[in-house]
Amino acid sequence: MIVSRCRRCGVNRAEVYLAHSNLSLCPECFTLLTERRVRHTIESHKMISRDDRLGVAVSGGKDSSSLAYILHNLYEKLDMVLIYVDLGVPEYSSHCLKKVETLAKMLGRELVVYSLERELGFTIGDVRGTIYGKKPCSACGTIKRYLFNKIAYDLGLTKIATGHNLDDTVEALFNFYIEGNVKSLVRLRPYLPKTHPKIVPKIKPLIGLTDIECYYYAEYKGLPIRALECQFSKGSRSVRRKELLNTIVEKIPSFKHTFINSHYKRILPLLEQALKSQGQGEETEIYDCPICGMPTSLKGMPCHFCKIVNMIKGKVEVKVS
Ligand code: SF4
Ligand code: ZN
Repeated sequence: MIVSRCRRCGVNRAEVYLAHSNLSLCPECFTLLTERRVRHTIESHKMISRDDRLGVAVSGGKDSSSLAYILHNLYEKLDMVLIYVDLGVPEYSSHCLKKVETLAKMLGRELVVYSLERELGFTIGDVRGTIYGKKPCSACGTIKRYLFNKIAYDLGLTKIATGHNLDDTVEALFNFYIEGNVKSLVRLRPYLPKTHPKIVPKIKPLIGLTDIECYYYAEYKGLPIRALECQFSKGSRSVRRKELLNTIVEKIPSFKHTFINSHYKRILPLLEQALKSQGQGEETEIYDCPICGMPTSLKGMPCHFCKIVNMIKGKVEVKVS
């Protein structure tokens, strides 16, 4: 039997094949190289400094669990807390909570849990039946983005790290290209700096790792990751787009890497220039939400989060009476 050896150490049996770089690696070399690649991403974008107080958004999934573990390993002395938003999805949310509690214990890091039901009196399922129709996912995205920022701001954290990986980013960019959504194409970056005193900068240290690499990393490190999927994820457009992109990767293994490199190195600078020349730079006006006081692009109106909360509360109250 021919056993292929790890291309890096030449000793151990290779278990992981990275088609995009034509590399076969043993688990030890794979996890080591993965951590190095994340460190490289962090350093090249100057994502983290020594005096940062970092919040890591965790969900119980492979990406955010790998992210917290890698950051803990690379920056042991960094002030870091894990943040979990409990959406109140039956079975799924409590299952994920157990996973993030185990992860926090494993790392010896504080875990902050925000429960939608406890704090706001509704669950994400209550979004259904409003203007969002049957799928709460787009409202869920807005709610999570708002809450991670608000929690981090209230805790005095200086940055929020999220587990968005290469597959997530390519899927989002692909969608924005199809829609011709130039503003969102320009805004989607590995590092979003502070643009307002109440906006906490966001970093995406896993932007260079694929879904499968995050999965292998979590597996090899024995991280507690969820075994359930959110009941609302089935048939979602982003899942279908990811599947489509994966069929391209079967024919062109480096497709996602090439796509993202071309976007950030070649296309993005041109898009920025074009927007500026049309007087539509990145700087959008920011106002205070009249309800919660947090920043919003909506002048004189409640922010998107407060709109959703009002809508659901109205619906929930109607349901109760
Ligand atoms: Fe939220 Fe939709 Fe993801 Fe469920 S599948 S966690 S509702 S975005
Ligand atoms: Zn608001």
